[in-house]
Parts: sequence; structure tokens; C-alpha cells
Amino acid sequence: MSHDLPKAYDPTAIEDHWAEYWVSEKLFAQPAPTDASEQAEQFSILLPPPNVTGRLHMGHMLNQTEMDILTRWRRMSGRRALWLPGTDHAGIATQMMVERQLVSEGKTRQELGRDAFVERVWEWKRHYGGAILDQMKRLGASVDWQREYFTMDENLSVAVREAFVRLHEQGLIYRGAYIVNWCPRCQTAISDLEVVHDEQKGHLWEIKYPVLGADGKDSSEFLTVATTRPETMLGDVAVAIHPQDERYLHLHGKKLRLPLMNREIPIVLDEWVSLDFGTGAVKVTPAHDPNDFALGERHHLPSINIMDPAGHINSEGGAYAGLDRYPARKKIVSDLEEQGLLAGIKDHTNNVGHCDRCKTVVEPRLSTQWFVKIQPLAEKAIAAVKPGPDGQKAIRFTPEQYEKTYLNWMENIHDWCISRQLWWGHRIPAWHCADCHKITVARLDPAACAHCGSANITQETDVLDTWFSSGLLPVSVLGWPNFAMGAPEPALSLSKGPSPLGTGESTTNRADFDTFYPTSLLVTGFDILFFWVARMIMLGCWFAEDVPMPDGSKRKPEDAVPFREVYIHALVRDANREKMSKTKGNVVDPIEIVKQFGTDAVRITLDSMASPGTDIAFIVARTEGYRAFANKIWNAARFLFMNVDRAAEIGITADPAALGKMPTVGEDAPLEARWIVAELHATAAKVNQSLESYRYDDAANTIYQFFWGSFCDWYLEIVKLRLDFPMDGPAGESASDQASKIEGRRAALTTLVSVFEAFLRLLSPFMPFITEEIWHALYDGNPPARSIALTGYPKSCYAGDTTTIRLKHNYDQSVIEMGVIQNVVTALRSHRKECGVPEKEVVPATVYCTEKDGSLTAGYLASESGRKLCNYLARVDLSLRMEPPPPTEKVRSEVGFAVAIAFEATVDVAAERERLTKEIAKYEKGVAAAERQLGNEAFLAKAPANVVGGLKKQEAETRLLLDKARAALGALPPG
Ligand SMILES: [Zn+2]
Ligand SMILES: [Zn+2]
Repeated sequence: MSHDLPKAYDPTAIEDHWAEYWVSEKLFAQPAPTDASEQAEQFSILLPPPNVTGRLHMGHMLNQTEMDILTRWRRMSGRRALWLPGTDHAGIATQMMVERQLVSEGKTRQELGRDAFVERVWEWKRHYGGAILDQMKRLGASVDWQREYFTMDENLSVAVREAFVRLHEQGLIYRGAYIVNWCPRCQTAISDLEVVHDEQKGHLWEIKYPVLGADGKDSSEFLTVATTRPETMLGDVAVAIHPQDERYLHLHGKKLRLPLMNREIPIVLDEWVSLDFGTGAVKVTPAHDPNDFALGERHHLPSINIMDPAGHINSEGGAYAGLDRYPARKKIVSDLEEQGLLAGIKDHTNNVGHCDRCKTVVEPRLSTQWFVKIQPLAEKAIAAVKPGPDGQKAIRFTPEQYEKTYLNWMENIHDWCISRQLWWGHRIPAWHCADCHKITVARLDPAACAHCGSANITQETDVLDTWFSSGLLPVSVLGWPNFAMGAPEPALSLSKGPSPLGTGESTTNRADFDTFYPTSLLVTGFDILFFWVARMIMLGCWFAEDVPMPDGSKRKPEDAVPFREVYIHALVRDANREKMSKTKGNVVDPIEIVKQFGTDAVRITLDSMASPGTDIAFIVARTEGYRAFANKIWNAARFLFMNVDRAAEIGITADPAALGKMPTVGEDAPLEARWIVAELHATAAKVNQSLESYRYDDAANTIYQFFWGSFCDWYLEIVKLRLDFPMDGPAGESASDQASKIEGRRAALTTLVSVFEAFLRLLSPFMPFITEEIWHALYDGNPPARSIALTGYPKSCYAGDTTTIRLKHNYDQSVIEMGVIQNVVTALRSHRKECGVPEKEVVPATVYCTEKDGSLTAGYLASESGRKLCNYLARVDLSLRMEPPPPTEKVRSEVGFAVAIAFEATVDVAAERERLTKEIAKYEKGVAAAERQLGNEAFLAKAPANVVGGLKKQEAETRLLLDKARAALGALPPG
């Protein structure tokens, strides 16, 4: 029998092999149960779909590692675990990527046309899309690849269309003119969340608007307004003042001449105008500012849009038509100056909004968009997070602080602009009629206008905000809405023709939804709390409430939530706690670091620092440390296999029935066996508990301590003793003595192997590759399951909270006894060093105890087995004295006992003379060099004071060492 484990640990080879095996064997596929009697508590988790254009970064690595640990742990603990993967079509990002490609070919998307462009994006997606999922596969994420989705898949598109149509039918979708954040580069509206603000130095231009006299001509009076965007004046329709502003009471009812455009505009009175900001007069441009838009609505003012989608002045801009917004600004300012209408230019720090995708300055611009009326959706989404009548929350946030952030946002939410002027995405299912100008919104592509029957209809060109589709994912990936349609309604389809999903069974199959909805957990980053988490809650609560419970009863609001828990993970920062960014050049590429140290080492490095609400400072050296941990596990496995194989040669084997469960031993088992089993149970209890509260760090560190500190440093050392006794006993040894020795060895082997096997299972969710490899080797190619990930997770015999576990564990007799051994051996080892005892030498030693406070130690050392263990581990020959140490004896004192070692250092005089002579020569040289330098006037004149001071100090110290060495040499006996 041989266990096939290469000598050196090479993570790359192991990890590539197992990553491929897990995928090809479909190990983590989790179909819904076909038999209702297959009752198992479920654990379902949705992977936040990375953008199809995405590449794995350190944040993903942390987030996915956390999800993988929890999924593997729950799966091994007996839950029906589903981790569902997919990618997002990422409207703007993907369109930009392909547009850039086109530019490099000298083409534009407009030249290509919409259909050809969309086809081109699909082609791009087929070639390059989803590379990030391949990276996930390599990192061993235990997702159900059978269920991989893309947000533009046919069935998910059906869900998007159903959601839109249903909201429209419910009067919750409307179309309206609104000031949106407009990106002139991307040429689309973008949401508030996609605008990044930063402070910029700019100017405040003060412009004089002539007040018109009774004759309709310029009077000698001016009203001065201030603006940071002078070009928008082309679209001014009024100037507003506060009705109580005493400076302007005489201007009530008067009109102004808008310079450059020569347009007559009214002075309007509005209390929104601040009396003490600027001049107290505000230009009103409803088409280019949200506040002005609201003001314009109040005063029934027209809106004049002066800019085209690309940010050029349009035909409404008079002489400036055709100019880009910035050249137009320059020209307007200089024209005003020429006409004597520029009252001043002041420096001004502006909070300027930029497009998150392309960094272009965003232009507030009036346009017609589609909106979701956010009430009553938001109301339900608030109720889902607040405590219900029973005090329970339907959705819990960890860390809890995010609950407040979420509620605060949700309580101040505005209607959601869901249209985007892109070509890549879910096209809005609305058709405009050229004859009656009404809109038809439909599940099936209509052939005619629903209002007048005209065939002269064209589909809306806008697509839906990407977050509209990803907000539906928890319901749509589990089969909504098709199962809910029921006969005889037509099956849904995106176009005329047969349903892409077929009919019959698939439209009524609710097994996935019934089994996995609500999902158990969402692990995601703070940055998409509003974008995504909030929208999933709104849409999930809204649509799932209409889906009956598996038993046919009406679904309660608390069961309509998309997930029960939200865990917001921390950020991975660089070693100096700086945020990683491309511009700073401090980005750590997870793939590179994985190549260097192996996935397992990187995973556990992240875990060892991950806890709720604490950002991680990623230090490469730490990964080196965990790579050493992996090596240690590997070497321990090889040591264990060597012993197993050696024992097998003489017919001793571990009890196979002890494997695959939580090890136990009898009360008469040797101390180290009872102790390591107790340690294992305590470790398992703590790890399970830590994972319940997302304390990945505590879990990882507890396992690490168990393995390195208990298993390797103590248990393996002791078990060697049990395994290595000579088979040929002393002459005359009885047959029954022989038999009991063999039995002892067999028991030791069984405990060793079964504890190690349980440790592998305990570690498996954290370091899935190395544990898989060793576990298969341990079973010598004949494992009881296809993967360690499909075995059971170690459960402890200790139960209760952390304190209870610790108390029970601390009072375990084996832990108390082993504590004595560890204290005595550690003290002896330290004292050996202090006395200069060569490592291999066995020396006589004494432990002094008093009845008063050393009875525990004394009690255990009085037994032969206890002394034997100490002798073996500390390489001493121990005697116990029940008295305080004599004052003349050199001892090391510990709590409750003191140790002494009988050892006279013998000195090799000749060697010592040689060593000291060499040392003296070295110090003499050093002193001479320092003297030379300190005597150099030129050096002293130039060198800074601290350098000279340092040199003097160094000289003095070297002199001291020289004197000591000379004295030591003089003291040596002649020879
Ligand atoms: Zn942009
Ligand atoms: Zn019509």
C-alpha cells in the first residue's frame, strides 16, 4: 500500500487538476428536488454577476472566497446548497468596449447601424465575454455551472419584459420630460449613482441683464446674475428673485432682455431663491438644471433645450449653434465682455459631476425618459428591512450599520429613471404609433397600434437600465415568471412565434422557486448597495408576493424578500491601507499572486483577516506565511503516510471504521490521544460558530492554531513515541505484553489518521485544493465520496456559546494534564537553552514543586507515564522534589514549579582561544578605522552632527567589546 503524494508541494499542478475535475464532474450541480419528500434545509446564494467585460480583481477574490467558504461549509453540513453564477451584460461598459474596437477600425456604431452593432456585441461576447468566470473556475468556486446565466439570455429577457409590462399595467411606469444626468460621450442618460463628483477649480461669471423700460427698450438699469456655466444662458427663460428681497421690490412685474439672444424674459418671484447667495437674482434655465426645471414647472415657463446629445449647441443657440459647449462658453464670455455686459469673473470651486464610465463632465439636460414610480415599491422595500410586528426583520444586514444607510436612502428615494439611450441591452417593449401618437406596451411584439389599429408603429429605441434586469435576478434565475403564467395564456416570447421556453412543463415548473426562494444570503460590496441590493429588494418583494407558497397558500411579505441576509464585505487595500487603484499603481493582481503562492494560500490569507466591517490590508509576506502553512500540512501528510505504510508492512492498520466521522477515544486512551481529540472538538465548535457570524478570521486562525500549535508541535511529537517502539520486546516478554503493545500501536495509528482526516474536512472550505489532494491520497484512491467537499463537516460534541465551549474544554481532564506537560516541557526547553545544553544531549533535570501551589504539576509528574513524556519531549532525565529549590541552585521559575538542569559546560580551550583571537583582531580593526575617520578634519567639517555622534558611539562600543574579549582570552587556562 502506498499513498501517492509527491515529495514537494506544488500547488499549480494540484489546483489545475482539481479545478477541472470539480467542473467536469459537475460536483456542485444542485437541481431542485423532484421528490417533495427529499426534505433538506436549503442554502442558496446568488453570485453578484460580474460584468461580462470584467476581469478578476482582489475584491472579487475576497468576495468569492467568502461565498465559497460559506457554500462549502453549508453543503458539508447537510444543506441543499446552491451557488448560482452568471454574468451581467453591463450596458454602458460593454457598448464602450465594442465602440472602441470599432474606432480602431475607423468605423462608428452609427455607420454600422443598430442591428449590425448589436450582432457585433454578441460576437464580442462569444469571443471574450465571461473570461472572469473561467478565472473563477480556476479558483475552485463551488458554483453550479449547470445554471450559469447571462442577463441577456432569452428566459431572463422574458422576465425583464414581463416585469416592465406588469409595472406599466399597474400604472407604475411612465414616460416624462425630466432633467437627467447626461453623458455627452456615452450619449445616454446615466443614473445619479453613476455620476462621480469631484471638486474642481472654476469660475463664477457675473452677467448683467438689461432691465426693460416701459417702452420695451433697455433702461439704464441691469440685473446681475451669476453662473458657473455661462453657455446655458442661451436657454434662459426667466430670472428669479425672492419676493421679499428689498433690493428688487421695484422690479416686480418687469422684464429683462436676455443678452446675446435678444429675448424678452420675465422676472419671476420665487421663495426658493436664496436672499443672501450672490446677487439674489438667479437665471432660470429649465432644460439644463434640475432646480430650474422645478422652478419652471411652478411658473409654467417653457423649457428651451440648447444642446444636442453630443454636447454641441443646437439651433436654439442662435449664433452659437454647432459649437461644442466649451468653445461656446469662451465665445459667449468674450462677446459679453465686448458688449460691456460682463460684471465680473470670480474664482469658484465647483463640485463637478463626471460620468463614472468615461469621466466626461456630465451635463444636466432635459430629455424624455421612462421612469418607475417608486411608491409603493419602496414602501415594501422599507418594510422588509424594518422589524415586523413580531420584532423580526425579513432581511438582516451584516454589519448592521448598513441597514441604516439603506433605509435612509430608501426613505428619500426618487422615481427611478430606467431608460438608457444605448443599443446594447433590453430594448423597451413599447411601440410608438405614427398615426395616433399613442404608445403600445406589450408582452408580445405587436403588429398594430393597440389604440387605433394602425400598422404604422415603431419600437422605442431606448434600452433598460442594466440594473433593471439585474434587480430581477433573484426571481428570474429561479424561473419567474414563466411558471406563473399558467394555461391558457400564451407562453411568453420576445418575438412573435413559439415560446423560446417551450410550453407545458417548463411553464408550470416551480421546483426551483419553491426550493430556493427566498435565497439565503447575498454577499456583496458596499458600492452596489443602492444600485443593486436596494433594487433587488424592491423588485423581488413586488413580484414574488404574487407567487403562491409551495403549499398553494398566499405568500406573506416576509417570504417575498429576495434574500434573508445581506453580508456587506470589506475592501481589500494595499499593505499601507491605501485603496487599490490603477492610477496609484498599487493594484495586486489576484491571478499573479495565485501563480506565486497557490490559490489555497491566497484564500486563507484573505480569510485570516476577514471579519465584518474591517478592511483588509493585503500584505504579500503574509501569503508567504500561509504558503508555509500549506507546506506544513503537506509534510505532515507525508509523515503520516510513511507511518501508515510502515505499520502496514508489519500487519498493523488503522481502524477504517473510525474514518469520516468525528474521532472519539476511550477514557483509558493515552493522554495525547484524549487531548488531541478534545482539541479537535473544541476547534470544530469554534469554527462552526465563527462561520455563523461571518468571523472568517476567527475560523481560519482557530484551524491554523489547532494544526500548527496542537497537532504538529505536540501531538505528532508524542505520537512518534507510540509508533516507534521496538517490535522485538525485551527477552522474555510475554505474548500478552506483545499483543497489548500491538494494540496500543494500532490505536495510536487510528487516532492519528482519523484526527488528521477530520482536520482535512474542517479545513476543506478554506483550502479546498490541498485538502482534496491529501484526502484522496489518504484513502489511497478509494475514497468514500467523489470529493471531500461532499463529505460531512466536523461537528463538535461541545455545544453552546463560545464561553461554554471554552469552559467545558478547559475542564477536560486531558486538557488539564496536557497543560502540565506543556508547561514543564516548555520551561525545560528554555532552561536548556539558557544553560547552553547541546540540543541532542540528554541531561538530568529536577522539577521543584510545593504542596501549596504545585500539587497539580506534582500529581501528574509523580506518575511514570507523565515523567516519561516529559523526558522524551525535553530530552531530560527527570526527578521530582516536593520542596522549594535550594537558594544556590540555578533554576527557572514558573507558576507552581521551578526547573533545574544538571549541566557543566565543558569548554574546548583551543577552539575558544582561536575564536577570541579572531574577534579581537576584528574589533581592533574597527577601532582603528573609527579613529582614522574621527581624526579627519575635512570629514568632521562636512559631516552632519548626528553622523559624527553615531560614529563616536560606535567607536566606544567597539572598544568595550574589545576589552571584554581581551579579558576573556586572558582568563583562559594555559594550554
Ligand atoms: Zn460617459
Ligand atoms: Zn395608433
